[in-house]
Amino acid sequence: MLDCAIIGGGPAGLTAGLYATRGGLKNVTMFETGMPGGQITQSSEIENYPGFFEHDKTGMDFMDTWQKQCFHFGLKHEMKKVLRVEKTNNHFTIHTEGGETIEAKTAIVCTGSIPKRAGFNGEEKYFGKGVSTCATCDGFFYKNKPVTVLGGGDTALEEAFYLSNIASDVFVVHRREEFRASPSTVERVKRKENIHLVTNTVIEEVLGDAMGVTGVKLKNRDGEVKQLDNTGLFVFVGHDVNNSVLKDENGEFICDMNDWGQVIVDLSMKTSVSGLFAAGDMRIEAPKQVVSAAGDGAVAALQVISYIQEQQ
Ligand code: FAD
Ligand code: NAP
Repeated sequence: MLDCAIIGGGPAGLTAGLYATRGGLKNVTMFETGMPGGQITQSSEIENYPGFFEHDKTGMDFMDTWQKQCFHFGLKHEMKKVLRVEKTNNHFTIHTEGGETIEAKTAIVCTGSIPKRAGFNGEEKYFGKGVSTCATCDGFFYKNKPVTVLGGGDTALEEAFYLSNIASDVFVVHRREEFRASPSTVERVKRKENIHLVTNTVIEEVLGDAMGVTGVKLKNRDGEVKQLDNTGLFVFVGHDVNNSVLKDENGEFICDMNDWGQVIVDLSMKTSVSGLFAAGDMRIEAPKQVVSAAGDGAVAALQVISYIQEQQ
């Protein structure tokens, strides 16, 4: 019986592993479907993690020492995909791909969430090289330069507002006339002088060279094509939360979730199920940053230690 099963090996899962093992738990295993590190390993640069200020280091370099540190303190890594987490009596059964089951006193789920892709030409090629899904991470690279934002939901308009305080101009490209975002957010964005709404328009292609994105090609409903040059591109067309491990055999969630599939937790990362915790990008109100995911992982692990002590 594991003291704690950690599902997902990104910043939240690794930090949970570090705090759980250094906190004295003997039997802690992190299940990660690939190499540990999480989605930040796709980034070519990280500038906003306190204490890390090396421009020649990629997200992969950045995460390399995290796993070494965790394994040094006794965290075990199983390179397995978890299919589901089941509460059985007073403990958890972890079902992995291949039909294996592992028992654990507690579980911390940190499987993250994936920003959706819009599907225009060049999106994958230039992802992380000028096409971004994170204004907090990459907005600063466009200080006093123009940027384009794709999407018409609350996230797109709120992030456009954030970017408008950094960039010279923000062009919000949306495929319809009406915005999905709340009316008050739309009004706030309309009042901002350097935000320009480009409606009934799609992105045909993102243009670039060896250095990254150079511009975007737009097409409106009448078929007119227009090009915006010297702009970064931020895509906010929704998120897929990796929450399938929290569904039972009938496809029902085992703990409380919000309407967008994010796990409802309190400030201690406790879910509605005793002994089950969630951390990082998959939880409600997640800032979707490495520093906050790591913080969540630490909080969850400290709660696991208290929970196990209370059960003895
Ligand atoms: P993730 O990092 O998403 O990790 C989840 C892990 O769970 C993954 O490794 C996945 O393989 C694993 N997993 C999923 N399902 C299963 C399963 N069923 N079984 C086993 N394992 C599973 N943040 C910043 O703070 N600064 C930046 O500059 C920055 N830049 C970014 C650039 C890019 C290109 C991207 C994509 C993200 C960037 N972010 C940045 C955001 C940051 O990466 C995330 O906020 C952070 O990684 C979230 O950590 P997490 O542990 O919650 O989830
Ligand atoms: P969302 O509401 O699903 O909006 C996605 C937007 O992207 C929509 O405008 C959609 O256009 C557009 N889109 C989708 N696929 C596209 C494609 N392939 N090409 C071009 N455009 C595409 O997602 P979200 O903005 O991330 O919000 C998710 C949920 O979180 C929402 O319910 C939102 O209200 C909520 N949220 C709330 C707050 C807040 O309350 N402060 C903040 C952020 C998010 P269409 O409109 O034409 O479908």
